[in-house]
Amino acid sequence: MAEVLVVVEHGGGLVKKVTLEMLTLARNLGEPAAVVLGAPGTAAALADRLGEYGAGKVYAAEHEDLDGYLVAPKASVLAALVRQVSPAAVLLGATQEGKEIAGRLAVKLDNGLLADVSGLEPDGTATQLVFAGATIVSSKVTRGLPLATLRPNSLTPSPAPATPTVSTVEVSVEESAKLARVVERVAEAKGARPELTEASVVVSGGRGVGSAENFALVEELADLLGGAVGASRAATDSGFYPHQFQVGQTGKTVSPQLYMALGISGAIQHRAGMQTSKTIVAVNKDGEAPIFELADFGVVGDLFKVVPQAIEEIRKRQ
Ligand SMILES: Cc1cc2nc3c(=O)[nH]c(=O)nc-3n(C[C@H](O)[C@H](O)[C@H](O)COP(=O)(O)OP(=O)(O)OC[C@H]3O[C@@H](n4cnc5c(N)ncnc54)[C@H](O)[C@@H]3O)c2cc1C
Repeated sequence: MAEVLVVVEHGGGLVKKVTLEMLTLARNLGEPAAVVLGAPGTAAALADRLGEYGAGKVYAAEHEDLDGYLVAPKASVLAALVRQVSPAAVLLGATQEGKEIAGRLAVKLDNGLLADVSGLEPDGTATQLVFAGATIVSSKVTRGLPLATLRPNSLTPSPAPATPTVSTVEVSVEESAKLARVVERVAEAKGARPELTEASVVVSGGRGVGSAENFALVEELADLLGGAVGASRAATDSGFYPHQFQVGQTGKTVSPQLYMALGISGAIQHRAGMQTSKTIVAVNKDGEAPIFELADFGVVGDLFKVVPQAIEEIRKRQ
């Protein structure tokens, strides 16, 4: 079986969840081979984790230039690797960086690109959700190999332990790929809560929460459940919560085990970002709110009465 290259998304010495999803998907397409791009020493720290999800090989493409410039050097190195190993498919995360590398890679290889897919079949047919998830599209590249970016939280990663061999990739970056240099990195201040797109519990608040101060209630419930806080666009646009926590078509896509929607009506653009959650719980005072069409459990009531009672009950059980 031919290799399927999975371009590893990582940060802070950890493998991101979308990489585990890609490795899980890659196992249906061929032999998963993870490609780590970064500064020297990056791959060794990640290899065990990549192996847990089925990477039989880890390509270590390590060089200061891969860390010191924007994405152009990464696309150059990947193009050379693809030409060298002729993989069955190449997968990248549909993240800010993954999308840009994929676009550049497609141009370099004169290859089609399947953007933002939620699935990929062994015959190269990709599934894409468009119009906020209202329409499902099947597509295939007409030139080259299946080169796809996977939308984060499209599938549940499942382990399949392997012991990867680490293979060093020669990195040579042309001057034309070094036109944009990274001059400073500022780590985003992170609280104790899990990252929104990686959390197994997400508690989101909408316009019904009413104010920024009232979001303390959403945070309290999220913290009690060890979850992340999300928000609808109406809530972020109203300044109740920062935009980076917006869930939906123009925000983040989440797929936790438990998604709680508090004071959110369930507009199609919001659903696009959370409808694949395992269990959906909604609290809304309007029994006709569309969120109830999607919810596994719904409470018709005032969230300021329902949520404090839920908090009290959960505390009793802890
Ligand atoms: C191009 C485009 C992209 C968009 N992208 C996104 C996106 O990414 N994410 C997103 O969320 N939206 C997005 N939207 C906006 C979307 O259409 C909705 O306007 C938005 O999701 C509504 O947010 P909401 O449910 O919080 O507010 P509303 O629709 O106003 O709903 C508030 C709900 O709270 C309930 N409520 C009020 N008070 C209480 C209370 N005390 N207790 C319980 N329930 C209460 C009400 O009954 C109501 O159902 C987008 C729109 C467009 C056009």
